Amino acid sequence: MECIFCKIAKREIPSDVVYEDEDIVAFRDIKPVAPIHVIVIPKEHIEGVHSLEDKHQALVGKLILKAKDIANQLNLKEGYRLVLNVGEYGGQTVSHIHLHIIGGRPMMWPPG
Ligand code: AMP
Ligand code: ZN
Repeated sequence: MECIFCKIAKREIPSDVVYEDEDIVAFRDIKPVAPIHVIVIPKEHIEGVHSLEDKHQALVGKLILKAKDIANQLNLKEGYRLVLNVGEYGGQTVSHIHLHIIGGRPMMWPPG
């Protein structure tokens, strides 16, 4: 069965998309942990950071640069957090690489 984020990228299931181009889709998290919580994904199915290869270098760079643009667009002037959860201990629940943009409130450190 195809993964849920691939389905979102193909618009096969609804989501609140805030940005899209030929490589990337960004949409609001269905269970936000802060006033702003956006998930940024490549359209290509890559399982996670652990499965990245050298050929993904430009795509991963673009993911972060677009996350910055989206954060600016969402007016996160006071700052925000970018999170990549990796694998079981990293808290990754969806096996399609994704960058969280979390903002709109101060963040704690260390994370749980
Ligand atoms: P992670 O725990 O890093 O794998 O993050 C996965 C995130 O995807 C969680 O914050 C979920 O709330 C979010 N999520 C799962 N399904 C959907 C969906 N259909 N639409 C939007 N966000 C989702
Ligand atoms: Zn996928």
